[in-house]
Amino acid sequence: MVGGLRSTTVNDLELDALVDSLSLDEQISLLAGSDNWHTVAIPSKAIPSMRVTDGPAGARGTSFTGPASVNLPCGTALAATWDPALVQEIGALLGRETRSKGARVVLAPTVNLHRTPIGGRNFECYSEDPFLSARTAVGYVKGVQSEGVAACVKHYVGNDTEFERLTIDSQIDERTLRELYLVPFEAAVTEAGALAIMTAYNRINGPYAADHTELITTILRGEWGFDGIVMSDWFGLHSTTEGVNAGLDLEMPGPTKHRGAKLRSAVDNGLVSALTIRETARRMVRFMDTIGVITDRGPGLEVTRDEPEDRALVRAAGAAGMVLLRNESVALPLAATGLQRVAVIGPNALQGQIMGGGSALVNPVHAVHPLAALTDRFSALGVDVVHARGSITHKTVPKPESRLLSGVQQLLFATAAQMHSAEPPTLVRDVRGFNFMWSEDPAEGVPFATVALRTIATFTPDVSGEWSFGTSALGHSTLSIDGVVLLDDDGRPAGGSFFGMGKSELVGTMVLEAGRAYELKVEFESAPMATMSGLSIGAMAPLTLDLIQEAASLAATSDLSILVVGTNPEWESEGYDRATMDLPGTQNQLISEVAAVSRRTVVVVNAGSPVSMPWLDEVDAVVFTWFPGQEFGDALADVLFGDVEPGGRLPVTFPQSLEDTPAFEHHPGRHGVARYLEGRLMGYRWYDSTGRQPLFPFGHGLGYATILIEGAHITNDGVEVQLVNAGTRSGHEVVQVYVHHEQHGPSVAADEPDQKLVGFAKVSVGAQGTAIVTVSLDPRWASHWDTDTHAWTVTPGPRELRVGRSSRDIAVRIATTV
Ligand code: BGC
Repeated sequence: MVGGLRSTTVNDLELDALVDSLSLDEQISLLAGSDNWHTVAIPSKAIPSMRVTDGPAGARGTSFTGPASVNLPCGTALAATWDPALVQEIGALLGRETRSKGARVVLAPTVNLHRTPIGGRNFECYSEDPFLSARTAVGYVKGVQSEGVAACVKHYVGNDTEFERLTIDSQIDERTLRELYLVPFEAAVTEAGALAIMTAYNRINGPYAADHTELITTILRGEWGFDGIVMSDWFGLHSTTEGVNAGLDLEMPGPTKHRGAKLRSAVDNGLVSALTIRETARRMVRFMDTIGVITDRGPGLEVTRDEPEDRALVRAAGAAGMVLLRNESVALPLAATGLQRVAVIGPNALQGQIMGGGSALVNPVHAVHPLAALTDRFSALGVDVVHARGSITHKTVPKPESRLLSGVQQLLFATAAQMHSAEPPTLVRDVRGFNFMWSEDPAEGVPFATVALRTIATFTPDVSGEWSFGTSALGHSTLSIDGVVLLDDDGRPAGGSFFGMGKSELVGTMVLEAGRAYELKVEFESAPMATMSGLSIGAMAPLTLDLIQEAASLAATSDLSILVVGTNPEWESEGYDRATMDLPGTQNQLISEVAAVSRRTVVVVNAGSPVSMPWLDEVDAVVFTWFPGQEFGDALADVLFGDVEPGGRLPVTFPQSLEDTPAFEHHPGRHGVARYLEGRLMGYRWYDSTGRQPLFPFGHGLGYATILIEGAHITNDGVEVQLVNAGTRSGHEVVQVYVHHEQHGPSVAADEPDQKLVGFAKVSVGAQGTAIVTVSLDPRWASHWDTDTHAWTVTPGPRELRVGRSSRDIAVRIATTV
């Protein structure tokens, strides 16, 4: 058995006997969820229900508002550490967190690749590079499973955009699929022993991922020897017969839409064999037994763990992923000398963004924000800190401030008809209802699928002028003020909120008087046949200040400006892609105007994936933090003050512009199809092969120490590399090895990459010291996927191994022949 997973309590014969003691209907009942997070129990046979919880940013448990969870650095932040051993520690923490939510399966990691920098879920995933993604995934899965929890690796495969995410057909040629997109899944299964796989929403070359016999049965189970369970993404199964025949074990969530009685009649009609049902049920029972669900006798309590050593680990991992992109005139690390006043500016300073949006959201045990952490550090050194927000970056109108509201009541009705009749509500609750999302019944007698609600409040603005109001609904909503209907989203098409199922926001404005009490009323009714209900309501005051002007005047009178800019979970989320790589709102202008008047400008970018930086040459230093988890502020202070090295290196190329990116011509696809016509020229492979200059290359990241690669040679174990640290500061470097295969002639594929990453190692080098490290190489470093034999094949011929500090900063080239 893998890691700390307990060995099975029943042997094969007992398992067979147990499965055979189940009736066909009982066996079928095991093949779908009972609700969002549980499977169906069969108490008479001592088979309990199994609970699963989302990841990857933490183990959320069964609700978005339940007991708090430790929030971990996002996927890109973890990959940016280039440190699978550290990622394994984070995985183990996630395993413990999963247990604390009474679950034995965590729906993580997300290992899809960054095909385009604007993919909505890139922050959840690791990298554009399959090898780096695979190494990171292996560490993560090993860590999770060492705690007796199954990692459910997702989304298998080709789920690389949120555009038409539930139906898009990702058309990927065989070689590209094998050499890129399947690689992290394969490593998670064959090296880390991942016990569960979640299929993607999309189709791959025709069939839905959940119905894909070739991917599930031939490749995953057949070639890779996977013996765990395969589950659908939530509502991602569309068939009764195809999915189960293809090898998909578990339909999630429940109650079932496609199995149950429908599957029974498919068996009765000979469309699915009873043997297939038995084998599938057997896999389910064996899985539950392996991970301890059977001996646990059902899901446990959901509680919060909050241990100092876990906070310390999240802080260290957050810092280890932060990438120092630029550092002119040694602007960093910060020293208090010469500083009296520091301006900390930007929308992500007061409230740093610790995670991205969508199903990866958790309710964090706490959050340390940049402004608070930097103020603590500077104050201890006798330096004053001043702050200005500088820019508004909400994508949707933010929810109304509670200090402006009184007497908030939420009236819940079982149906819209009840709300529109004279009948009283089923339930009246106080102070709720400006943001909700229900996939389970909000109250007894109020089904989530038919719920209707009226929210009433007294709204007293503190500023006179034109107020903005917004609603985003998965359903139909109206918003009125003093009886005047301002917003009615009837007929608005779905897309843009609630995982892409809800409508995009409807915004309206109204001139209001400060101090006057208005009646704010919102009515909502759920969408017919919806799998979820949800509504967000926003109210925002007119802007009375020139935010950039305010920020620039603080900057002009300070000794240093630290700008904390970025995106937030509204811009980077499951459900939709970003439209551009630009920082939202007026942040680009803010940075330029602040830099123009600052003595020194340090820009901290808090985003999950690349952003454009038109101001790059105007600023002294840039640190990219990703979404670093709940200890953000302290991890950032550790890096800025040089307590720790900025440990990260880019796991993804930062392009000059979106137009430069490999999939630009083909993304997001049309007529329901995304053609991966860039083939294997993904990420740096594309920039290298087409001679394009990126803004920052893959693998780039500066340190505070000056470490050089002095030499390298091939040994039996890989590539031995000598490093020297000429400076007085100890530090580390990420040594990267790329292989280049010079190929000529008409048979060379147009998407043959110039080089690819085949090994790396993170090495510490003491002040004025040296180090020697052996970088082991990907066993497939000299192979390719042969589409004639459908197998990995070593390609003989000359190679160049390139040893460097990024894909573009190569120190040593070693010629060799295979
Ligand atoms: C996401 C999955 C997630 C599931 C359960 C889906 O919308 O694609 O990644 O695990 O929901 O929340």
